[in-house]
Amino acid sequence: MGLKTLNLIARKLADRPAELAAAKAAGAKVVGFQGYTLPEEIIHALGLIPIRIGLGGSDRLVELGGRYISTKNCVYVRETVGLFAENTDPYITGSDVFAFDATCLQTYRTAEIIQYYFDKEVFILGVPRNFYLPEAHLYFTEELRNLVGRLETYADVKLSPEKLAASITLYNDIRDEIVAIYAYQATLDPLISWEEVFDVIQAGYVLDRRDFLDLLRALHAELAAGQGAAVIARRDDEARIFISGSVIPPGDKKLISIIQEQGGRIVGDDLWSGLIPYVAVDIRDATLEAVAHAYLHRTPHGALPYLDLATDGRIRRLKELIKTFKANGVIYHTLRYCDPYTFKAKETKDILEKEGIPLLELHTEYAGSDIEAIRTRVEAFIEMIKLKAETGVAA
Ligand code: SF4
Repeated sequence: MGLKTLNLIARKLADRPAELAAAKAAGAKVVGFQGYTLPEEIIHALGLIPIRIGLGGSDRLVELGGRYISTKNCVYVRETVGLFAENTDPYITGSDVFAFDATCLQTYRTAEIIQYYFDKEVFILGVPRNFYLPEAHLYFTEELRNLVGRLETYADVKLSPEKLAASITLYNDIRDEIVAIYAYQATLDPLISWEEVFDVIQAGYVLDRRDFLDLLRALHAELAAGQGAAVIARRDDEARIFISGSVIPPGDKKLISIIQEQGGRIVGDDLWSGLIPYVAVDIRDATLEAVAHAYLHRTPHGALPYLDLATDGRIRRLKELIKTFKANGVIYHTLRYCDPYTFKAKETKDILEKEGIPLLELHTEYAGSDIEAIRTRVEAFIEMIKLKAETGVAA
């Protein structure tokens, strides 16, 4: 018997499309969004329903999307476009309007494509390439103000400081719970696995955010009560794997399954579909300036250029999380045509290897044709880590 709260989350997720349809029938408006630097609390504070859209893992949808967007775009972007082409996903059909940010320029391109081919109303949030200049803060704050203005006009609502403050508090509480549950799953004999926590985070993309906070609190309490059997057996030669690189969206289980089948225990990640958006978000005031400042000071996304590796916040956070989760190997995967993370693979590997942390770089897509090749490489990497964990000597 699994954790009660996980069963409850699965039920809520199954009921969510009908719940959303009922809310829309009562007059609510839904904003489907995608991106890393788009502050979701703003959509929520306007009284709109935020739904993070996008799936992965379907070669069929990638092929469908590729009829509308260049096949030189990553498979995640192509699958997102495929979802619009197919038009059956309840969160695509259920969204009244869409918002995308331009953190990754391929995401920005997705926004243009769905506007052009599928006649969707799309708002785009510009994102500066260099977060560290004062001009970047000014630009991003103005972009945010512009997005809020467009959503206000669209929905005929006004953003009030009180509602913004309440939404910031709600999202801060969600972030705190996620960080705490993540820390727990990496301990010895946990009642929940990294994969289950990852699924919980992604359930939060579509669930009502107040319900989601209640569910996270219930889950946290259930874990703290410590009733039940550990889901991961304790072992001395544990291969504690940290996942980095391109997005792993809902629906894409290929790499996760292979790592676990080969006896690796995933203990952490810095994926933008995993933990990283919830770490170190410090919104000091209920103002757009403060929200913009906090989002620009989070862990930088891999799609942003940063040339000085010694001070790169992405690398700093990666090292910090590897240490926090006591990982002894990193699997860095890149999706085909995900140029941002592919370009950063070599430098990431070099830096971590200097610290004695081995990194396996994998290049993959959603087709099943490379499963055997990936399995072989993951198996060898995990064997090497286990041997090192057991004997202190690399194979
Ligand atoms: S960062 Fe990579 S995986 Fe994510 S949208 Fe951009 S190209 Fe695709």
